[in-house]
Amino acid sequence: MEPGPVSEPPAEPEESFAFAAERERMVDEQIRARGVRDARVLAAMRRIPRHLFVAPELDREAYGDWALPTAEGQTISQPYILTRMLELLELEPDHRVLEIGTGTGYQTALLARLAREIFSIERIHTLLEGARAQLRMLGARNVRLRLGDGSLGWQEFAPYDRVLVAAAAPRVPEALKDQLGERGVLVIPVGGAEAQRLEVWRRTSAGRWEWRRHGECRFVPLLGRDAWREGRGPSGRDD
Ligand code: SAH
Repeated sequence: MEPGPVSEPPAEPEESFAFAAERERMVDEQIRARGVRDARVLAAMRRIPRHLFVAPELDREAYGDWALPTAEGQTISQPYILTRMLELLELEPDHRVLEIGTGTGYQTALLARLAREIFSIERIHTLLEGARAQLRMLGARNVRLRLGDGSLGWQEFAPYDRVLVAAAAPRVPEALKDQLGERGVLVIPVGGAEAQRLEVWRRTSAGRWEWRRHGECRFVPLLGRDAWREGRGPSGRDD
């Protein structure tokens, strides 16, 4: 048999200049302008292609200063809020991080650049599988995903250095505190249906807790055993 032509390696997916430029602008005008200074977080935001995590018909809006709707009535958070949470986490490159609410996987992709190992839980199957495909395409190898109720944490790989909750909780779920290691930090939006405040919980070396409340935000509800009850949102109405 004749040897066939040597095949070219598949081309890297090309990214149009416009998206890269929009990403730069997002970082300058929405994030640095509001005071976020963590250089590693800013570099990750410049790098991860947010437009690939939203529906194609919304990709022109992906770098705007807002949250966007995603599948299953959920949202991809406003870039600034994500960055603020990442900054409050004080991530180090060797950290193991538990994330609750994978959603599109965008924030997971950012975490994967900033820390050693990411464990992320999502309760909606189609979202989880969408995120899995996207993260694989971007070559993120340090991420483990799981379908389940994140209000109960992920005991198997505990303790974690950091825990990030990307949905609004009525209070801090006990399991998440239990699964946080010494000097660990947990960032979570806590409050009602209309608005929440970002809370940062830190386990001190003496085994005590310090916590601080930061700015206002608005997330979709955390639904689960130690959160809002499924089928009933924080409003008390059916969701
Ligand atoms: N940061 C994500 C957006 C998260 S939106 C992104 O970058 O796309 C919040 C997500 O939390 C939703 O996908 C929702 O389905 C999920 N969620 C809500 N309650 C949950 C729970 N108990 N366990 C796991 N995921 C949950």
